[in-house]
Parts: sequence; C-alpha cells; structure tokens
Amino acid sequence: MSHDFLKTLDSSFARGFYSVDPSDLKEYGKDWTKVYEPKPLAICFPQSTDEVSKLMKLCTAARVAVVPSGGRTGLAGGAVAANNEIVVSLIKMRKMGEINTLSHSMWCEAGAVTEAVHEHAQSVGLTWPIDFASKGSSTVGGNIATNAGGVKVIRYGLTRNWVLGLTVVLMSGEVLRLNGSLEKNNTGIDLRQMFIGTEGILGIVTECILKLAPLPRESDVFFFALGDLPAVFKLFEVARRSGFTLNAYECLSDECLGVVTAHRGLASPFPVHRPQYVLCEVERPESEDARAKLEAWLGSLFESGLVQDAVLAQSPKEAANLWAMREGISESLAHAGLLHKHDISLPIARLQEFIETWTHDLTQNYSGLNPYIFGHIGDGNLHVNLMKPADMDAAEFRKLCTKVDQNMFGWIQKFEGSVSAEHGIGLLKKHLLGYTRTPAEIVLMKQMKQVFDPQGLLNPGKIL
Ligand SMILES: Cc1cc2nc3c(=O)[nH]c(=O)nc-3n(C[C@H](O)[C@H](O)[C@H](O)COP(=O)(O)OP(=O)(O)OC[C@H]3O[C@@H](n4cnc5c(N)ncnc54)[C@H](O)[C@@H]3O)c2cc1C
Repeated sequence: MSHDFLKTLDSSFARGFYSVDPSDLKEYGKDWTKVYEPKPLAICFPQSTDEVSKLMKLCTAARVAVVPSGGRTGLAGGAVAANNEIVVSLIKMRKMGEINTLSHSMWCEAGAVTEAVHEHAQSVGLTWPIDFASKGSSTVGGNIATNAGGVKVIRYGLTRNWVLGLTVVLMSGEVLRLNGSLEKNNTGIDLRQMFIGTEGILGIVTECILKLAPLPRESDVFFFALGDLPAVFKLFEVARRSGFTLNAYECLSDECLGVVTAHRGLASPFPVHRPQYVLCEVERPESEDARAKLEAWLGSLFESGLVQDAVLAQSPKEAANLWAMREGISESLAHAGLLHKHDISLPIARLQEFIETWTHDLTQNYSGLNPYIFGHIGDGNLHVNLMKPADMDAAEFRKLCTKVDQNMFGWIQKFEGSVSAEHGIGLLKKHLLGYTRTPAEIVLMKQMKQVFDPQGLLNPGKIL
C-alpha cells in the first residue's frame, strides 16, 4: 500500500515533490519535543494551495494519513509523524505579499517564517506582534495552528487577534477562503476561528491575511530583584497603574537565573541573590523627559521598599542582554539535565495561591525535587519545571513527577486553570485534556472533527 501510494505521487507531481531520504524522514517526522520516534512514509513539499489540495484528494482516496508541518518548534508533539503518515511540509510556501499600509495587513503563505514576517512588516513601520524565542524557525501556519502566545501577549493578545483571513485545505481537498481581509464580518459562525489553535486536526492552513500593528516606539527594559513571591504580583499591579504601556511582564525564580547564567556564561545583573526576578518592558513615553520619568518611577519603587534591587537598561544591547536571561531559560534548562515540564495557566488573581500551594506540596512531600518556575505573569501563564537531582535514578524521578502532577492538575482544575496555556495538547498532553475540558466539550470537539475530517486522516491521534 505504502509503495503504491509513492507511485501515485510519482505520477501526479513533479520530481522532488516528496522525499523518502532517511535524514528527511527523521528530521520532518518530529518536533521540538524529541520524545517520539519519527516514522513517516514520506515528506511532501507542495508549492501552492492547489498542490496541497491535489495531495489531500489523493491521500483521502488512498486513506493515507497526513501530518501538517511548519517549523517543527512545537512543544506538544503536534507535528510528530510516527505511523507511516505523509508529512505536508510548507517550507516551500514562504511568499509574502506587499504590505497594505492603509489597512495594516499583508498576505503571506503559511510557511513564511515568523521572524521574516516581522522584518517584512518592519520595513514600513509595522509589525505582526507574535514574538517568542523560536521565531527564527517557527512558521505563520504553525503559529496559527497553535494560536501561539509569547512574550508580548500582555500587550497584543494571542495570534488569533492578528489573523484576518485564512485559506484552508480540508482533508477532502476542498479549499476554503475564509473572511478575506475583513475586519468586521458578522454573518454567522466564524469558520476561520475553527482553524486557529486546533493544531492542524481540521484543515491545513496554506495562506493567510495577517493584521499588523504599528511598530511600537522604542522600549525600555527593567530587571527587578524582589524579596518574595507576593512582591512579583504587587509590582505587577503597581506597573499596570504606572501609566506606562507594558510590553512584557515576565518572572523568573533565582534557580532559573542561576541555570541560564551558568549555561550562557552571562553575569547576573545583581551582586546579591534574591528569590524572584521580573523583566518588565515598557514602551518609552512620548515626551522629551521620558528617561527622567522612567528613572523617577524606579526611584519610587525603591523608596516604597517594593524592589530590593533593579537595573534599567542603558542601551539596546543591555536590554538584549537582559532579555537573554529570560528567553534563554527553556534552552538552558534543557541542557542542564533531565527535565519534567509543564506550560499551564491560571486566572491571574489565583496565580500566587497556586504557586504557594504547589511549592508547599513539594517542600512537604518531595523535598528532593527542585522547582524551576518562570513565565508570563501578565497572562497568567507559568512554565513549571522539575529537574532530576543528580543522585536520583531517572525511573524514580519520573515516578515521583507523576505523583507530583496528580496533585498539581487537581489544583489547576480547582482553581479553574488550564493544563496547556500556549503549547497545545498534541500527543504529549492528551491524557490531561479532561482536567480543563468537560466531557460535554470533548464530545462536541469530536463531533466537529467528524464534520471536517470524517475518515480521521488529518493529524490523527492529536488532541482527541
Ligand atoms: C525555544 C522555544 C520557545 C518557545 N516559546 C513559545 C512561546 O513563548 N509561546 C508559544 O506559544 N509557543 C512557544 N514555543 C512553541 C512553538 O514555537 C510554537 O507553538 C509555534 O507556534 C509552532 O510553530 P511551528 O511552525 O514550529 O509549528 P510546528 O511545530 O511545525 O507545528 C505545530 C502544530 O501546528 C500544526 N501545523 C503546522 N503548520 C500548519 C499549517 N500550515 N496548517 C495547519 N496546521 C499546521 C502541526 O501539525 C502541529 O500540530 C516555543 C518553542 C521553542 C522551541
């Protein structure tokens, strides 16, 4: 069957349309999670919506499963192909159209790299404000399929807010062109939204019309050292009332700062260790004495005793160095040892209570396990991690983590949080879906999947 399907591809597309080279199968069959053994049948590289449509019709006729693939930076196994699937990689669909400076929008193909879109929009003073550490590899299609968040959500919201129109190919090969470049279109169910954040299980996004924002003015970056966890939330409240526009409000524990400075060979900005740190980026006020205003605010924070120490970056280079301490955490933790990690969200008002409850449980019952907590406080999104202690056996560590998780997910449910804030469900978190979604919701999701993909061939086994 597999061999027959490759013959069908040979007779339907030009040479080079697909690859069965073992290194491609290995590379394109996995994502950043790296925990699943890739085993795709072939990797296809369509160059247009029409080619994707033709391919999908052939796959449906032959009942061959398909996995949509972008930059493969996903952290939930959503782009993994481990069961003889056809991987549809959009890396040859990266065209970007002219920017419309009247409507602040642009057309692009879904394989366009996020950072390339930023650079393109920047040339006319605009931006697509979806920003995170993997932007140099992730694609617009992947960002849309995961409704990506990142470090600027506090100011701009999620990807969903920045998509006007979508072209989507269904498993049947049918092409839907949804919403064009309309800002307003109140004509029933907004089908476009079904494909945002559903990890490629309903259709393949091939083209998009993105909504752009004015490039923010220059920004200023503060790095604060704080005496305890409540100060992180108090400072957030104060920063929101400061009158400055917040671009980011990110927290990291002393353990996280230690790991990232060691791995990247960076010096901590502070001579004395403090339990918590916050990186706060604000848009520079539009006034001649902007700098004086920022410094006066900083002075008032010291005076009130809210911050123990702080730096205000004196140059873009210094600001980038401070950002490196925050953005380098994931990668540095991954290098430091065996990690057990979660990307969760809570109502902002209950974040502190959740962190205190979770860390208390660890101290009382699992004192050998050290937590590493960082995240996007402004969005209620925490990255919680446990690292295997050097003297603990890996199997024992995993067993303990499962026990810790049982309590943690119980509290997430109780505090009305989510088991996945921005990375998605994919394969990795399927077993956790029920903590956040009710049985009735899951039944409805399955029914929707049935409508768009009755044979269950598109990204099978993901989410549901
Ligand atoms: C260092 C690092 C930092 C990160 N930080 C963040 C962060 O701050 N915030 C955040 O939200 N994410 C973050 N991520 C996760 C990841 O970068 C995002 O989820 C990103 O949006 C994935 O894009 P991608 O193109 O790599 O998608 P892929 O990994 O290729 O795919 C992701 C999912 O989308 C589907 N898909 C891909 N393309 C399409 C398409 N055209 N049509 C339909 N479905 C498609 C895939 O099947 C899969 O289910 C981070 C990842 C790394 C490695």
